[in-house]
Amino acid sequence: MEKLALAVDGGTPVRIDEFPKWPIFGQLEEQLILEVVRSGKWGGTGVVHSLEYTPKLPEMEHKFAELHQAAHAISVVNGTVAITVALQAAGVRPGDEVIVPPYTFIATAAAALAYGAVPVFVDIEEDTLLLDPEKVSGAITSRTKAIVPVHLAGAPANMSRINEIAAAHKLRVIEDAAQAVGASWEGRSVGAIGDFGTFSLQSSKNLNSGEGGIILTNNDELAEIAWSLCNVGRSRTGAWYQHDRIGQNYRMTELQAAIVLAQMTRLEEQMQLREKNAKLLTELLCRIEGIEVLKLDPRITRHANHLYMFRIASAMTDQIDKTDFIRKVNAEGIPISHGYVPLNRNEAIVNATRVLTGEDKVYACPVSERLSDKEVLWLGQNVLLADEQAMHDVAAAIQKVIQSY
Ligand SMILES: *Cc1c(COP(=O)(O)O)cnc(C)c1O
Repeated sequence: MEKLALAVDGGTPVRIDEFPKWPIFGQLEEQLILEVVRSGKWGGTGVVHSLEYTPKLPEMEHKFAELHQAAHAISVVNGTVAITVALQAAGVRPGDEVIVPPYTFIATAAAALAYGAVPVFVDIEEDTLLLDPEKVSGAITSRTKAIVPVHLAGAPANMSRINEIAAAHKLRVIEDAAQAVGASWEGRSVGAIGDFGTFSLQSSKNLNSGEGGIILTNNDELAEIAWSLCNVGRSRTGAWYQHDRIGQNYRMTELQAAIVLAQMTRLEEQMQLREKNAKLLTELLCRIEGIEVLKLDPRITRHANHLYMFRIASAMTDQIDKTDFIRKVNAEGIPISHGYVPLNRNEAIVNATRVLTGEDKVYACPVSERLSDKEVLWLGQNVLLADEQAMHDVAAAIQKVIQSY
């Protein structure tokens, strides 16, 4: 095959067109925001100022719960706080251990540390990048209280196995579903398969209001505790100045709820587009020697396709340097990126853990480390909202660069 000059060497880039701008919004966002502004009810408490106005937060929470077949949705300021509150409501106490994967956003572990709980890293599966359930049992101690699987990039973790292990050891399960709005495992929506599920509505997520978060649960009692922790220790039925526990004010605003309600009307269509593009991209990447796509467990009944992650094949990493590869593909007009550094290697996490435990524990997570250093590549969430041609461009750029090694 004829070798084309790479863009880094002055050749013509495969793609010049931009990828879609994010967020996508229109008149509905404007209209709903205006309703909130004019109502004068901007905050997140249950106080109603006007009889003509129906508060948007309860409506949004109801719709979010319904979308995930969950009994309760509690809105909070962000996805990080959602995890901290869920851990606390689930009975995790300072000093307790919480099992988390190392290949995730820092919030998964930082949320535990924020409450004085100790993150214990259990490595991921090489072919899915998700928490490896078979390695969980070996990390359980008498201080373990919870498992926090992450539905990374929109792919549900193996919830059947994780719930089984948790039940056997009487542990709580908190699903970090920040990247997986609308995803499902064996027909059950993520978020309420464990004791709690937490979501982020931060700008980069598939459903966003700039900032925000949601806690889901099917457990009535846990829902009340979580709600109380986010509402300065009040109870839903109690008096205004009755505070039954120490909680914080973690409420979202009506303005944010208005944006989420508008964005929700666009979600299903965007999910279908993401699905179609991810499927096509997978087909195209499968044909490229030296590239490995992620394995999808057939029990994943819906993938949220938040980010698109794939790998340089292990057999090729002697020839292909990941950093060099990214630079060359970027020059072809395709925004692939490096992705996470495993959290077991993050110094701030290691130091905070040392302060809490007084121990100098170093976790070896060889799969996460090798994949992060040498193999895993990411495409941002807006890429999957582009057209079919864009998927062909992504594959063509990767093929072109691979051939140059
Ligand atoms: C975004 C994200 C969070 C944190 O959400 P924020 O709303 O930014 O606090 C937590 N976990 C994962 C996996 C995320 O991607």
